[in-house]
Amino acid sequence: AGRLEGKRILITAAGQGMGRAAALACAAEGARVLATDRDAGLLEDLAAQGIETAALDVTDAGAVRAVVGGAGDLDGLFNCAGIVVNGALGDTVEAEWHASFDVNIHAMFHVTRAALPGLLRRAEATGAASVVNMASMASSVKGFANRCAYGTTKAAVIGFTKSVAADYVRAGLRANALCPGTVDTPSLRGRIAAAADPAQAERDFIARQPMGRLAHVNDLAPMVVYLLSDESRFMSGQAVVVDGGVTI
Ligand code: NAD
Repeated sequence: AGRLEGKRILITAAGQGMGRAAALACAAEGARVLATDRDAGLLEDLAAQGIETAALDVTDAGAVRAVVGGAGDLDGLFNCAGIVVNGALGDTVEAEWHASFDVNIHAMFHVTRAALPGLLRRAEATGAASVVNMASMASSVKGFANRCAYGTTKAAVIGFTKSVAADYVRAGLRANALCPGTVDTPSLRGRIAAAADPAQAERDFIARQPMGRLAHVNDLAPMVVYLLSDESRFMSGQAVVVDGGVTI
């Protein structure tokens, strides 16, 4: 049997990057995945592979209530949605600051709040439910240049995760945060392409990875599977760093 056999798992931002990789990995382990993304077109390929999909912009509170409420009780939730705003404090304008909070942490509150009653029912029925929240090594784990709004919101993700873990540990609901290093995803490729010197930007990203390469999405997906599975049943409230050695 798969490691997530029989579990109902909702994933946000599953259209590409780590969310997509996690959706495929969870489905391969027997989960009944609901893969969601703001961009419905990005979900077509998952649907063609037999994975249930739904368009969901996590910043739309009404849509969150409808999609999460309509998903049935969840055993697992992977809050993967997030955006990267570049810039030091002096370059960060208020609109970007607010957009970062809206997507990276306010939406996580709304999605998790909407899923909570079902997660608690499943925890009571089966003894286990699990939330995985996407943070980053750029957070309270480590400061990075030009990640002011981003790092602030990802630190908030870790604080939110620990508070959920503390409040519901006795109910059987666990929560952990994932802190990846630099991962080769479409949005990273976009950040590289937007740099003044893209080839140099790519070399710089790789240079800060002691393991000498960017992460592949499948360097992260197994950790998501583990955290959503009962194999991690004695673990909650942790910020799990998978960063190619950056924080050694
Ligand atoms: P990505 O950035 O290439 O893709 C992100 C996906 O999120 C897209 O499919 C997009 O449509 C979706 N999305 C954006 N806003 C949304 C919204 N409001 N509602 C629903 N979906 C929305 O993929 P990625 O790089 O794997 O990033 C996923 C998460 O991982 C983000 O939270 C990001 O901050 C985090 N992260 C990325 C890296 C990295 O190096 N790539 C490192 C650490 C953490």
